[in-house]
Amino acid sequence: MEKQLIQILDATNTQFVRILWCDNANIIRAKAVHRVAISECITSGVGIAAALQALPVMLDALAPGSGLSPVGEIRLVPDWNTLTPLPYAPGCARVMGDMLTQGKPWNLCPRNFLKRMVAEAKREGLEVIAAFENEFYFLKQTANDIILPVDQTLYGSTLAMDLHQNVINDIAKALIEQGMPVEQYYPESGPGQQEISILYTHALAAADQQIAFRETVRAIALQHDLIASFLPKIFADKTGNGCHLHLSLWQNGQNLIPNGEQVGELSEIARRFIAGILHHLPALMAITTPTTNSYRRIHPHYWSGAFRCWGIDNREAAIRVVSHPEALSPTQFELKTVDASANPYLALGAVIAAGLDGVRHCFELGESVTVDPGYMTESERSLQNIDLLPSNLAQSLEQLNNNQVLLGAFGQELAQAYIAVRQAEWEAMNNLTLEEEVKLLLNKY
Ligand code: GLU
Ligand code: MG
Repeated sequence: MEKQLIQILDATNTQFVRILWCDNANIIRAKAVHRVAISECITSGVGIAAALQALPVMLDALAPGSGLSPVGEIRLVPDWNTLTPLPYAPGCARVMGDMLTQGKPWNLCPRNFLKRMVAEAKREGLEVIAAFENEFYFLKQTANDIILPVDQTLYGSTLAMDLHQNVINDIAKALIEQGMPVEQYYPESGPGQQEISILYTHALAAADQQIAFRETVRAIALQHDLIASFLPKIFADKTGNGCHLHLSLWQNGQNLIPNGEQVGELSEIARRFIAGILHHLPALMAITTPTTNSYRRIHPHYWSGAFRCWGIDNREAAIRVVSHPEALSPTQFELKTVDASANPYLALGAVIAAGLDGVRHCFELGESVTVDPGYMTESERSLQNIDLLPSNLAQSLEQLNNNQVLLGAFGQELAQAYIAVRQAEWEAMNNLTLEEEVKLLLNKY
């Protein structure tokens, strides 16, 4: 193992290996180990303070009530299967870290939480396949610190393509070099807003790729003197950045989403899984749309999943079942009530826990919604059980605090630290204006 690893590092001219983790606030952090010191960290990794999982997004200071303190150390151990040379940082490689204590997974490790949920799904005979579909803005900063979009283009604009093709090509090349097949690119609806989608994969790899995707886009944009930001809402009157989560369920190499011969219909298991997600969605949002800024994005008529319902190709429903011209349709669905300020391991793991609850308890899925729920009257919506989802972080946190299924899946220690972090963020930021919030968060996500 050691010899092989050193050979790889030498062949790729790697000086530093960045061992990454993603904290409860979804800040991507790393410790870099130099090649000459790598032997010491191959199996036991590097030490980091346990308290790092108690940090809110605003500053490096422990959130009160997290259950963590300045005393205590855990090991960040590389998962060498994820070792990747960084095309945008010559001489550097990235590896994802697992948090261990006394040689065992630490209860607060987000990556281990997702692994546990993947194992739970397996126990039900299900394999979860996923892709995070990112939207982000290209921005520039004026001499007096004003943040502006790089253009004033519209959805799918070929002018935007011509303006940014160099940077987009560099991003696509770097994603592909790191094993993320790029599927589609198009300028999104906001001025300077972009969308690049990559191929779906197994749940754990999809979450790892979400980290690598954000890292790559930000770094390459910087090389082109651009700021790239995934912050959910940057401009009040423009569309936000979603990070829709695409999902399918598989068994023995077979996609379980379509209902056999009934083209266009969902299978029983898909219906139950989706019903589970919708049932838990108000609480899930404290994990999938977890910042104060997230709730500025989620509004009717912005295609951001503001209503608790599902529909076939309905872009105003929280869950859109995606139709496909081929016979085996639908093959997947997307949860729109997700953004890139969510820790991808926690978000995907929690969505799996919610879906599995629906499967285990045979939840019934309501009717698909075939119109824009934003144009229904309140009484029409209540007849179809369509609720508006939480409109701020305090509301979703309260739901999470009362949700035994999600708290149980997290386990006591992770739940306590996670909720403390988000509570501290709510208290520090709920009175900020959008401008103040953007200033604080733009470079964090
Ligand atoms: N920008 C929208 C959002 O906030 C999504 C637009 C789309 O459907 O791709 O989620
Ligand atoms: Mg989009």
